[in-house]
Amino acid sequence: MTSLEANINFYETHYDMLRQWFLRPGEKVVLGDKQNRTCRFCGRTPPEVTFRKVAHAIPEALGNKSIESVYECDDCNEGFGRGIENDLGNWSKPTRTFARIRGKSGVPTLKKGGDGKGWRIEYCAEGFNITSYEDDPIYQIDEANRRISFQLKRDSYTPVAVLKAFMKIGLTLLPDEEVGNFQHLMSWVRSSDHSRRFADQCPIIHTFQPWPMPNDLIAAFVLRRKAHVTNYPYMFLVLAYGNEVFQVQLPSEKHDRALNGQPISILPFPTPGSPDPARYGPSKVRVLDLTGREVVKGEVVSVQVGYELAVHKAGLDAATDA
Ligand SMILES: [Zn+2]
Repeated sequence: MTSLEANINFYETHYDMLRQWFLRPGEKVVLGDKQNRTCRFCGRTPPEVTFRKVAHAIPEALGNKSIESVYECDDCNEGFGRGIENDLGNWSKPTRTFARIRGKSGVPTLKKGGDGKGWRIEYCAEGFNITSYEDDPIYQIDEANRRISFQLKRDSYTPVAVLKAFMKIGLTLLPDEEVGNFQHLMSWVRSSDHSRRFADQCPIIHTFQPWPMPNDLIAAFVLRRKAHVTNYPYMFLVLAYGNEVFQVQLPSEKHDRALNGQPISILPFPTPGSPDPARYGPSKVRVLDLTGREVVKGEVVSVQVGYELAVHKAGLDAATDA
């Protein structure tokens, strides 16, 4: 059995696909009932709170222009936007730029400092446009393998806030009847006190697919443990955009109690294989450590891009590696 078959087999045996979406711009999905507004996050209803703003079920920065919910009030929407979603945006920006993900104002431009000096990477019609200065190189070119390695600085973020932002996406995508199983998680995700412990040890499995991927497709799945299974986590969100797949556990105080303290060994959710393994190599799976509760400043991320043409047009191949 190949590892892909093993992964498929594992999920067929232990999990049901509760919800699934393949989202492209132009397709609209609205979750919830506009006639019956209750905020899923704070429990409040009009007139105590308003529901005037569009609530993106997946942040717009990740390329989502399709899926909205009607059960996030303006207060919660603003709070998440200023808080954890800002952390997620900063943390994910380097790989989003290389995957050419279009947020609210197009593909983000990465630059060093705000004074116009130093390097700058932006996406334009012809591909990536990279400017740098010789005394401050930000990339190394490996001509034999047609790859460029970049060292990119991340904007400030708090790791556990990034984790909360992923879990908030999961909580938004849950069907109504499941929300009651996640009240502890709901309260933890809403809290701006990042020193509070709860789900900060829950793993995110990250799969990186180093070959060209569509930049406007988002896939989201909600997986629930089958009724006869007890020794695996109850609920997972799987979110895929660009070259990345994030598998996020959503811990339920009611249904995950039996797992307490036990090590869990789980296979990653299966992803389609490489179109050309010899050229791009296999997908890479790792567990993300987003447990940190202090602000991380000036972190450098290494990203590798395969290229086809001249250096100044690198990225047409758009294979990146965080
Ligand atoms: Zn609310």
